[in-house]
Amino acid sequence: MTDCIFCKIIARDISADIVYDDEQVLAFRDIQPQAPVHVVIIPKRHIATLNDLSSADAELVGRLYLAAKQVANELGVAQSGYRTLINCNRDAGQYVMHVHMHLLAGRPMDWPPG
Ligand code: 5GP
Ligand code: ZN
Repeated sequence: MTDCIFCKIIARDISADIVYDDEQVLAFRDIQPQAPVHVVIIPKRHIATLNDLSSADAELVGRLYLAAKQVANELGVAQSGYRTLINCNRDAGQYVMHVHMHLLAGRPMDWPPG
């Protein structure tokens, strides 16, 4: 998708600090980190929101979580702890309309979230 900022990162048209890259999944540090570790994990195929996933994407969703696990390990936060979340649409705070998982770590997380 030409006007999608995350598709531009996948195409390397926009630079990003990439921390994980495989055939189907890319992860990079968030440009406006909300925690000492803040990584965005995305499928390489453009899918707008969680609502647009189908049962055919079940493996892809699993791959997002496996990438999160690997990134957490490699960035040294697997044992201290980390939060993964996917915002869906505006009430949840989704502004980039390419489905993405946030991985947040490096400080205690509040619950319930704001
Ligand atoms: P959302 O608010 O849609 O759930 O999350 C989008 C995230 O992507 C935000 O945390 C935002 O800071 C991050 N982001 C937006 N544009 C860019 C960019 O060009 N580069 C990087 N690395 N992160 C971005
Ligand atoms: Zn996209």
